[in-house]
Order: sequence, then C-alpha cells, then structure tokens
Amino acid sequence: MTDRLLEPPQRQFDRSDRIRFAFDGLPGEVLREHFERDARQASLSAKFKMYYRFRPWIPIPVRQLLQRGRNQAMEVSDDWYLPSDFVSDFRSAIDRDSNRLVIHPWPDSFQMAVVLTHDVETAAGMESVDELAKMEERLGFRSAWNIVPHKYPVDRGLLEDLKHRGHEIGVHGYNHDGRLFESRRLFSRRAELINQAIESFGSTGFRAPMVHRNLQWLQALDIDYDASCFDVDPFQAMAGGVGGVWPFFAGKFVELPYTLPQDHTLFVSLGETTPRIWIEKLAYLRKLAGMAMLITHPDYLDTPERLEIYRIFLEHLAEQTDCWKALPREAASWWRLRDNLEVHGSERPPQLIGPSSQRARLFSLSDFL
Ligand SMILES: [Zn+2]
Repeated sequence: MTDRLLEPPQRQFDRSDRIRFAFDGLPGEVLREHFERDARQASLSAKFKMYYRFRPWIPIPVRQLLQRGRNQAMEVSDDWYLPSDFVSDFRSAIDRDSNRLVIHPWPDSFQMAVVLTHDVETAAGMESVDELAKMEERLGFRSAWNIVPHKYPVDRGLLEDLKHRGHEIGVHGYNHDGRLFESRRLFSRRAELINQAIESFGSTGFRAPMVHRNLQWLQALDIDYDASCFDVDPFQAMAGGVGGVWPFFAGKFVELPYTLPQDHTLFVSLGETTPRIWIEKLAYLRKLAGMAMLITHPDYLDTPERLEIYRIFLEHLAEQTDCWKALPREAASWWRLRDNLEVHGSERPPQLIGPSSQRARLFSLSDFL
C-alpha cells in the first residue's frame, strides 16, 4: 500500500474541469501553477510521520515547546504571511491579459469577504466556545465552529444552540491525531465515520486537522466545501500554500483557503501581542478583492490578553463596511452561484446572465494593478 499523501496532480484530477479557479486565461494559469506546486509538495516528512505516531504520549507543554523551537528556528522573511511570489506572478499575467473582464469575486458591491472560523481542539476548548461566540455576537459576528467528532465529549446541546444563534458547525477531522492521510485504507475507514458526523452535526463543511490535505481523497466526504488549504503558511507541518486568495472548485466541493495566519502561529509560536499582522493582511487582501478567512481556536484564545487581541481585530473588522461578513457555507454557495453566471459579450456593455445575476458585477482584472 502506498503511504504517499499525494499522487501527481494530473492523476488527482484527470478531467480538466475538476479544478476550476476564480479567473480564466493567463491569471487562471498562474492560479493553477501555484495550486499544483502546493499539491506536489503537500506531504509529511518522515520526521513528522514519526512525531504523529508518538504524539499521544508527548505531554502538551512539551509539544508546544518543540513546535515553538521549530517555528522560531525557521528562517522566514518578515512578510512571510503575504503570498508575494504568487502575487508577483499574478500581476505579470494581468499585465499581459489586462483587458480581461471578469465577474467580481463578491456579491452585492462588496470589495472582499471575511469569514471567521474556529477549530475546537480539546475538551477545554469546547468549554470556552460559548463565551467566545457571545463576544463575537456582541460585535455583530457569526462564525463557524469545527468540531472533532471522536476526541472529546461533544456538547450537542451547545451545537444546536449555536446554530439557532446563526453560527455554523463544521467537522474537524476524525480524532485529530495527525494520521488522517497516513494511508488510503485508514482514510477510507475514517471517512465513513466523518460522514456520519457531518450528517449528525448538520454540517456542510470540513477542515482537516493540522491542515494536512489531499483534495482527491477528500472527495469521499459528503461536503459542500473544504477549508484545509491556505494561500501561504510556512509554519505548517505540510507547509506551502496555493497562493490564490479566492475560493476555487476542487472536484465536487468548493475549496475555501484560509488567508489570515492562525492564532496559534502568531501568539503561541511567534509571541505576537497585537493584531498588527491580521490588520495588515486584511488591507493586502482588499487590494486583491480576496477572501480573508481566519482560523482561531478557543483552546489558544485562553488568556485575557489573547482574547483582547482577537476582540480588537473584530472591532477593526466591524468598521470595514466594504467587507462581506459571511459564514463559510454562505461563501461556498455564493461561489456556486457565481460559477453559473454567464457573460454575454455581444451586448454593449456586456451583460451577466443567470440566477442572482443582479447581485454580481463585472470588473476589469487590471483594477488589481
Ligand atoms: Zn485542529
């Protein structure tokens, strides 16, 4: 049996329509190149595989120490959280293809989208969900809570309550041991149980633990969207990134990459004490009409100082009136609507045809420059 995490991308998605990006033409080719690079590289080193085997016996403070040591020893540029390589390729593609009129990524005149998500890692995290959700609600936000179905007691009453309050519940792996993609056989066995959890939580979305990813294998899940990819993140065990800051179609589901660095990376590994990096990245994403998707964990927002950083960032977000504040399932269903729109170029100016076409608009890619 193969323990390779990924087959070559061309074998993963043998029909060309299976991966479909936000834009066509040269900009779309740049998106494809960067996606394929990530798919080729997204595998675990032998060291990490070994680590996950022994992880259950390593106390959490030791794990955090190991992780902090690794992250601080990594040589990254000061702006590691910006997908600079991708954007420079993307901009030169637009230069050569600047008359291309495309459907704006976001509906209702919004310039960008903001999507808040949380992965709930432990029983202690589960216990702080309600408080954190209330803080978001006070500032006018709702978010997605990704629950590990087979690791800690799941408070089903709370999940129902969150849904009634306008939040969303997603599924976060099987038991979060870092071995989900270790072999195809193990994955298939777990996929059945993950599908049961998806049904019983009423979820439409998934995020893999440790953002390990194999979009081909994930096709076995009964989901509308996956959120295990990211634009850039050198600190993950499966480092890399797809570069692009918009959703894309991966086979049957919509892929929603996260684009704001995780709380764990900023606060635990790098010792950041302000939301500076989130605020800067948000401004960067605005210029690209991108999607700002954030992963935070109730488990790591566990001190008044860290909660305060998150609260300040939410206050900043609340002031951004050109940001569409969407749940991941709303972003995914918008992406499907957008995908069904057609541009009728024979009319002057060109018209958008299709359901919800009144919510969409055309814009020129050169506006990115
Ligand atoms: Zn996790």
